[in-house]
Amino acid sequence: MQLYNSLTKRKEPFSPFGPFVTLYVCGVTPYDTTHLGHAFTYVTFDVLVRYLEARGYRVCYTQNVTDIDDDILRKAREVGKAWDELGREQTEAFVRDMADLNVRPPDFYPRATWVIPYIIKITQALVERGFAYVREGNVYYRVHADPEFGKLSRMDYAEMLRVANQRGNNPDDPLKDDPLDFVLWQAAQPGEPSWESPWGPGRPGWHIECSAMSLQFLGATLDIHGGGADLLFPHHECEIAQSEKFTGQRPFVRWWVHVAMVRKDGEKMSKSLGNLVLVRDLLNAGFSPDAIRLNLLHHHYRQPWEWNADEQEEAQAWADDLTGALAVAGGTGTPLDAAPFRRAFEAALADDLNAPRAVEALRQLAAAVRQAAGEGCDVRDAQRTLRDLGHVLGLRFGEPPAPAVVEGWRRLLKTGTRNPERTP
Ligand SMILES: [Zn+2]
Repeated sequence: MQLYNSLTKRKEPFSPFGPFVTLYVCGVTPYDTTHLGHAFTYVTFDVLVRYLEARGYRVCYTQNVTDIDDDILRKAREVGKAWDELGREQTEAFVRDMADLNVRPPDFYPRATWVIPYIIKITQALVERGFAYVREGNVYYRVHADPEFGKLSRMDYAEMLRVANQRGNNPDDPLKDDPLDFVLWQAAQPGEPSWESPWGPGRPGWHIECSAMSLQFLGATLDIHGGGADLLFPHHECEIAQSEKFTGQRPFVRWWVHVAMVRKDGEKMSKSLGNLVLVRDLLNAGFSPDAIRLNLLHHHYRQPWEWNADEQEEAQAWADDLTGALAVAGGTGTPLDAAPFRRAFEAALADDLNAPRAVEALRQLAAAVRQAAGEGCDVRDAQRTLRDLGHVLGLRFGEPPAPAVVEGWRRLLKTGTRNPERTP
């Protein structure tokens, strides 16, 4: 398989480092409802996992929950709820949306608050090695001590600072030596939750949470680290810096995979702009999970796109058409050979997960099934192929989500691990 790597900016033949593929995907910050931008990211990685497994790989998949963060604390204050209660509710709502879309659960589903001791350990090591400094109970990463900082985004200093400032950086913090230095640990503020640390009570910075969870659950070198394209900088840049300086091992990640943004009304779909299309609303409006997945998957994951209602309607027609093709009865004539369609489908996904071409191959197979059935051919084998390939895209052909998906997510909510014997 050729998989595009955001670090090298080219497609590279994929193979895992160890006996199985390790995958980490940045999860949600549970303070608001799942929109199509989230769904595009998690459905993309769901198809990647399904495809790798169909090719015989074993995948170990960790997705996190950023359950302590500025956004959650702000939103909790706004709605007058406890921060952890809000996080629990919103995580449950996200999980319901994922299960309804037949997105398979990851193997591990850690919350940032579960790994505070490891976050402290990493931060301590970075201070000892001169990559971080302590100021009044806060700990900052010293960007200038790291000549490799910027290797993922390939931006110059001014550009990094500009983008970081748009995405949560505080350049005016008087305690920082450099406005681009970022927080590893922040001193407790009145009314905020805090944990004990060698620097006094406080809570972790955002970036260090993902470094800690990926290192703790998957090890020092990950095969694939994914997330939305807006996480590339500063979040993933900072993750590389912290992780590689802590473990001394490189690379922290072999393939960086970023999923493009979904727009609406010409702007990135985001809470702050108020232009969200919610998964729950589409389901309530009667669109089937298959139709929502097909609408997402007929866009390439690296290509930003604009959501519109007409395309969603069209995708519903495709979903109905695929399901209908499974139900047509053929004759006893020459069997329809589905092999060329299977080859086209597999070649599409092998080429940097080209789901739009894979969807096209499925639709052509469905059309061929209908035509051959009309001509009295035996289509049963071709229908089996259609169903098998559809499953690689996570389609259910009108059936409810797979019970293992629903049960797996339910267990993750409780224990953080899909299989009880694989405790973290
Ligand atoms: Zn992350």
